[in-house]
Amino acid sequence: MVRSFYESVLAQIDQEAKKIGLDPGITSVIKEPERQLIVSIPVVTDSDDIRVFTGYRVQHSSARGPCKGGIRYHPLVTLDEIKALATLMTLKCAVAHIPFGGAKGGITCNPAQLSQREIQRLTKRYAAAILPIIGSKTDIPAPDVNTSADTMGWIMDAVSMYKGQTVLDIVTGKSLELGGSLGRFEATGRGVMLTTLAALEKLHRHPKDTSIVIQGFGNVGSIAAKLLAEKGCKIIGITDISGGIYNPDGLDIPRIYNHVYSTKPPCLLQDYDDKKVSSVTNEELLELETDILIPAALENQITLGNVDHIKAQLIVEGANGPVTDKADGVLNEKKIIVIPGILANSGGVIVSYFEWVQGIQSFFWDLKEVNANLKKLILKSFQEVWDMGQKEATSLRSAAYMLSLKKVAASLEQRGIFP
Ligand code: NAD
Repeated sequence: MVRSFYESVLAQIDQEAKKIGLDPGITSVIKEPERQLIVSIPVVTDSDDIRVFTGYRVQHSSARGPCKGGIRYHPLVTLDEIKALATLMTLKCAVAHIPFGGAKGGITCNPAQLSQREIQRLTKRYAAAILPIIGSKTDIPAPDVNTSADTMGWIMDAVSMYKGQTVLDIVTGKSLELGGSLGRFEATGRGVMLTTLAALEKLHRHPKDTSIVIQGFGNVGSIAAKLLAEKGCKIIGITDISGGIYNPDGLDIPRIYNHVYSTKPPCLLQDYDDKKVSSVTNEELLELETDILIPAALENQITLGNVDHIKAQLIVEGANGPVTDKADGVLNEKKIIVIPGILANSGGVIVSYFEWVQGIQSFFWDLKEVNANLKKLILKSFQEVWDMGQKEATSLRSAAYMLSLKKVAASLEQRGIFP
């Protein structure tokens, strides 16, 4: 039977909780989200019809601090998917040593079929609907798939209108003009670059002799591609939802980036015109001959169905949950190293934390300080996860889960179950 994304996350928690001897009661607390909200969102369309969308906000855990997590707009958003993503946020914040718990939100919609004005109305009504449970000290949203600094600005405005004052620290991932942090836009991709280079160093490999393919050319994938190319890596294949492009001699990432992001919304890779590249489907991309594979699109991309065709020796999870737990087992048997998303893509939430701190203080750091602190935190986590993996002779995912579960469990135990 094929497990859902959420079942896969829960199975991994069970497996690692047993290894560290976690109290079964505490494990069952960690497996259940604290709060789940489903909202209905009526929107007046540009043609004056009314459409009703469904939105979610799940707060998985506040054991270690305010809940924190992105908001996703996608046709396949379900409550179960949001629960899985919220759970991973709790573990990610624990791995990264930042004082947040986990949350996630989403709206089941296809933004490609909505105008910007409709998306703005949808966003503001969603913000109003989840307002009873979000807050600067309780639950702080951020961007995720198909949401951006614009979306965060609209949420911040809706909340500010209700509160009668401008509330900077209600969301992160805002534009600089609205109290965002320098470096937040690039933070997740930068973290992917830093963890990839750290793994290469452990493997005694040089970036200049390394080929990489990346699935997803959005916020995470495109920035990771740009930064890794700057470090000398050869990016040989990239895809987005339309499929993608391939050149075994290396792609001209700055040129492709400028092409895709010269329009708003960005254009698709299928429209990129260059005789030196051939086209590749998303399925083919995952199975290309390459040193490193970076899935940076959506969950459940590497499954029992394709895992035997994966040729990369290192997989860096830019996306959340791109490898199913069953496929992960096969990768471990084959000694393919996987840097789990709760470590590899934690750069976004780390700089979100910096943004939140800066918003509270109304005192903003320069880019050098943001990037230096990001590097310090993410490489510290990388080293801890690596060392734990070596000590326990286990995978990096297992090590990251063990470390984070211990921290969340310690907070729950020390606080005591209320009342
Ligand atoms: P995005 O919306 O900016 O980009 C998503 C990209 O994936 C786009 O290029 C899109 O075309 C592509 N895509 C969508 N469906 C696809 C498919 N079926 N096959 C191939 N490509 C497909 O989103 P993002 O913010 O870059 O997020 C990507 C992943 O990274 C998600 O799993 C997200 O949860 C995770 N993540 C994002 C952040 C962040 O700060 N944005 C932080 C941590 C993790």
